[in-house]
Amino acid sequence: MIIAVDGPAASGKGTIAKALGRHYGLPVLDTGLLYRAVGLAVLKTGGDPDHEADALAACTFKDAVLTEPALRSEAVGSLASRVSIHQSVRQALIKRQRDFATQPGGAILDGRDIATVIAPDADAKIFVTASVHVRAQRRYQDALSHGGHPDMDSLIADIQARDTRDMSRDHAPLRVADGADLLDTSNLTIDAAVQQAIAMVDAQLERRRKG
Ligand code: C5P
Repeated sequence: MIIAVDGPAASGKGTIAKALGRHYGLPVLDTGLLYRAVGLAVLKTGGDPDHEADALAACTFKDAVLTEPALRSEAVGSLASRVSIHQSVRQALIKRQRDFATQPGGAILDGRDIATVIAPDADAKIFVTASVHVRAQRRYQDALSHGGHPDMDSLIADIQARDTRDMSRDHAPLRVADGADLLDTSNLTIDAAVQQAIAMVDAQLERRRKG
């Protein structure tokens, strides 16, 4: 069984994907980390993230990079969003994602194009969203709890810039896939959002079972 969880930055999709993984006993791949690894590699080599050849050359990173704490920063998230507009970069990362999705026993993947490009035949598809303000507030709290000094206005601006880039790019833009259920987490606790996600997946699986 494949479950696709898509959505914009800080929508809660990662938290929901991990909770679904625990509930259904499935491994989870946060595909944003792959694009973040490319962004970080470009940064380290002094390349230009907007230059397709530089970004493509950064796609040969080792799996060990995916656990680096540096990947989690806002700056690397923004670089990830810049390298991810290049078609050749997206192509270079497809096999890793499809191999994970099709492993025996099933898998959950979260990202931007899982239900539209990586696994359009997924058994269940959820698009997680939340208002820009709520998403910025989550990033703010997260940064505070890690000892940072976040600035709300710049967090809002970053999220808006990332949304615009992710939704308007030519290749695999962020959008709600056909057949996906929309889950707005703006006014939900984590527990409530997870319960709704489980109910959506169960209902989609049931519909598929009935054909
Ligand atoms: O999900 P996360 O914020 O870690 O993703 C970082 C960036 O990577 C996103 O803004 C998006 O541009 C890109 N990305 C993508 N396709 C995915 C996952 C992430 O283009 N499946």
